[in-house]
Amino acid sequence: MDDKQLLRYSRHILLPQVDIKGQEAISAGRVLIIGIGGLGSPVSMYLAASGVGTLVLVDDDKVDVSNLQRQIVHREYTLGLSKVESAAQTLAAINSTVCIKTLARRLDEITLMEQVEKADVVVDCSDNFVTRKLLNRTCLATRTPLVSGAAIRLEGQLAVFDFRDQTCPCYQCLYALTGDEDLTCSQNGVLSPVVGVVGSHQALEALKILGSFGKLNAGRLALFDGYANQWRYLNAQKDPKCEVCGNP
Ligand SMILES: [Zn+2]
Repeated sequence: MDDKQLLRYSRHILLPQVDIKGQEAISAGRVLIIGIGGLGSPVSMYLAASGVGTLVLVDDDKVDVSNLQRQIVHREYTLGLSKVESAAQTLAAINSTVCIKTLARRLDEITLMEQVEKADVVVDCSDNFVTRKLLNRTCLATRTPLVSGAAIRLEGQLAVFDFRDQTCPCYQCLYALTGDEDLTCSQNGVLSPVVGVVGSHQALEALKILGSFGKLNAGRLALFDGYANQWRYLNAQKDPKCEVCGNP
């Protein structure tokens, strides 16, 4: 690490939990971010500012005026651009030393597998169950840690699936408990900072995984209630009969 980097990341390096070793690991890390919307905005911005070596951005959508209320990585002047290109411009302006790769399409299973295998951490910022379940299966198969987030109305959810640990429950184990429905922000609405709260927590967990410090929010589902400003936690066990990770 040269003098410029030591200065740039000095507030990280000052933390005994991070130190130079942790920052070097962050700077060498590669993170795959699926979805560059409300959650993907704070995730990508914090990870770029933190100096993560490579960020791979995946989204097949274009920037729409209704996105700007909460998707803070996008700009009025990038309306109509692909979200990954729009975000790449903002992120390059935040930290030009980060390598940003963009994929402006929905990934098929083979391409997704290739990208997940190359990543140190996958951050799920998608807005649908099909993608979440596919990411769960792919990350489980490759033993890649998955940081999952969701936000709707004034509510948020966060869970880390640390597949490096074979006893960790998977997304399917968790959602068999809650029986969640597939809700969309376009139909139900979402209060802007709620995606910021969840996305910031996803970035935090991703940095802890890259830097190998701290306690992960694994084996439990964290539920944020923005109306009352409260967090609560549902503990989850790996379900031995789980159709995805179990041994039936
Ligand atoms: Zn499972």
